[in-house]
Amino acid sequence: MKAIIEADNLTVCYGSSEAIKDITFSVYSGDFVGLTGPNGSGKTTVIKALLGLLPITKGKISLFGQTQKSFTDWGKIGYLPQKLSSLNPLFPASVEEVVFLGLLSKKKMLKIITKDDKEKVQKILNALEISDLKNKTLSELSGGQQQRVMLARSLVAEPDVLIFDEPSTALDPESREAFFALIQKLNKENGIAIILITHDIGCIGRFANKLMYLDKNLIYFGSFSEFCRSGKMSSYFGPDSQHIICHQHN
Ligand code: ADP
Ligand code: MG
Repeated sequence: MKAIIEADNLTVCYGSSEAIKDITFSVYSGDFVGLTGPNGSGKTTVIKALLGLLPITKGKISLFGQTQKSFTDWGKIGYLPQKLSSLNPLFPASVEEVVFLGLLSKKKMLKIITKDDKEKVQKILNALEISDLKNKTLSELSGGQQQRVMLARSLVAEPDVLIFDEPSTALDPESREAFFALIQKLNKENGIAIILITHDIGCIGRFANKLMYLDKNLIYFGSFSEFCRSGKMSSYFGPDSQHIICHQHN
């Protein structure tokens, strides 16, 4: 099986300080990777480096078998940033128009909405159960609804992998459960690989098959089951913390 994302000895510095150091991992088609670690441990930095949003100090990144430099098919990678600042919630576009923006990366020349585009957008809105919102603007929506719209915008480009940076922090527990269940469905039923940054270490094991634990260095990357059996990890975290991460994993 071919890796869709590979990082090889990745180091990223801000000025002279290293934010992440010698990070090596591979993500495969169908994976659901839970990415966690303390505040400031470099989680967002890793993701931004993968997406080419930050310069790499050392190491190599490949995307879908190509070097990051030669990779152009960015529609394959959906990204929901930590802050929804990439789209001003006061931007006076309708939900339908915002989701349509997700198709633009695939259009070469004419940026107009075709009948086919309209159908694609409608299908995604139906699947995410937000089609009743399609004429509303983002500012009229709750945090959970806004997140679904941003997810719809990523999905309409038919990505092979979706990357979420702490999507649950703005959500109440109920919307959070629903959002995680939705992501899990996209992974299981649509075969979309997922990288999910989260602080919810107590619940990530219910969804993810792999765990990536960062603390500037890569403390762990591998299967959840192996993490839970690892003596090295129980001496690193202490058996109680390891148990918190593992207790919901089946
Ligand atoms: P996390 O997402 O795990 O909370 P980040 O990747 O945002 O961590 O940050 C990792 C480290 O890099 C932190 O020490 C943070 O202060 C630093 N950092 C992040 N962004 C910048 C920046 N734009 N300029 C300087 N330092 C930064
Ligand atoms: Mg972050």
